[in-house]
Amino acid sequence: MRSMAKSQELQASAERFFPGGVNSPVRAFRAVGGHPPFVARAEGAYLFDADGNRYVDLFGSWGPMILGHAFPPVVEAIREAAGRGASFGASHAGEASLAELVRRCFPAVEKMRFVSSGTEACMSAIRLARGFTGRNFVIKFEGCYHGHADALLVKAGSGVATLGIPGSAGVPAETVMHTLALPYNDLAAVESAFMARPREIACIIVEPVVGNAGTIPPAPGYLQGLRRLCTENGALLIVDEVMTGFRLSLGGAQQVYGVTPDLTTLGKILGGGLPCGAFGGRADVMDVLAPLGPVYQAGTLSGNPLAMAAGIATIEYLIGHETAVYSQLESVTRSIAEGVEQVAREAGVPMTTNRVGSMFTWFFTGEPVTDFAFASKSDSEAFGRFHRRMLEGGVWLPPSQYEAAFVSVAHGPSEVEMVLNAARGALAG
Ligand SMILES: *Cc1c(COP(=O)(O)O)cnc(C)c1O
Repeated sequence: MRSMAKSQELQASAERFFPGGVNSPVRAFRAVGGHPPFVARAEGAYLFDADGNRYVDLFGSWGPMILGHAFPPVVEAIREAAGRGASFGASHAGEASLAELVRRCFPAVEKMRFVSSGTEACMSAIRLARGFTGRNFVIKFEGCYHGHADALLVKAGSGVATLGIPGSAGVPAETVMHTLALPYNDLAAVESAFMARPREIACIIVEPVVGNAGTIPPAPGYLQGLRRLCTENGALLIVDEVMTGFRLSLGGAQQVYGVTPDLTTLGKILGGGLPCGAFGGRADVMDVLAPLGPVYQAGTLSGNPLAMAAGIATIEYLIGHETAVYSQLESVTRSIAEGVEQVAREAGVPMTTNRVGSMFTWFFTGEPVTDFAFASKSDSEAFGRFHRRMLEGGVWLPPSQYEAAFVSVAHGPSEVEMVLNAARGALAG
């Protein structure tokens, strides 16, 4: 057994300050049991805990760490920026430099605003869509997570699903009464909603590939169908690429699936590991924001120079090595995802693997998983057991059946071998 003494001591100390000992609920490992290791440092494909144990990292800080941990060009960029001052509360050249790169990758993002989290990006995009259209209703999909703003905490997948609750206490019914939560991958449900509320629906917000119910790809034509229904009904299409942006390709899921949103939200990889998000899209819509228009949105630390520097270093690297990065991510992730599925098959463990590029989920079910209802049929006990054994075997998976796993460019053949070896132990008997 690996020693976890120091981590457990730190957890006890953290519980004196933080509810559950954590600053974000899924980190507490409630869905999988066992004790969360405390991280001392991270490098490349590895996390090192306070007891000196090493883990192959398969959750990548929940998505941002596509270049691996402590990637030297990113570390250097942060160091340099820090020397020039951590925050100005005024405009600086780094903001437009990162915006230029974002627009090069996402041509649909004509104008944008930087914020400090994905939550802020989605919350602001919704407000803007409502302000622009003068309509109140928002369509979201079951199992999709768009951050923890009140109006979006309805059937929100991820951490909320892990806790087995539909929404959240503290969110008044009045706040979510304009939020329509529909099943994912079901265009007929969207069509009916538009028919039931003509000229009342401001926007659809969607995870183009769901990551927050575990990985669920869109059915062929689904995203195009959403685009068409929005256009026909005068609603805006918000594609939430906080997870998929720069992950599935440089231009995110909208590039992979060929769909053009009115608004896009970004986060995670955008900040290279620092707190950063963005929302952007059609210039005529974005110009409705203050100070040009009546929709208010602001942020003390928005466009933070350290976050811009880390984002620029990350995205410049991705642009400069586009073909190599995304083909390596594809092949290494395929080896990991399909390799473990093969181990499960040999062990007689029912498993469905959903994977798009370098994001994937092993669902402990024999059935295909095409929406949240199917995802929730997974055997979460079996997943919990698998998670604990993999951790013991030196592989750190996302601690919930409803979270996507991620691979970085620092992962290679030896990490694939380590994951497969751990899985052989974890799935035996
Ligand atoms: C992570 C995530 C968010 C929220 O981002 P935070 O930075 O955690 O607030 C929103 N949407 C999607 C699709 C995400 O994966």
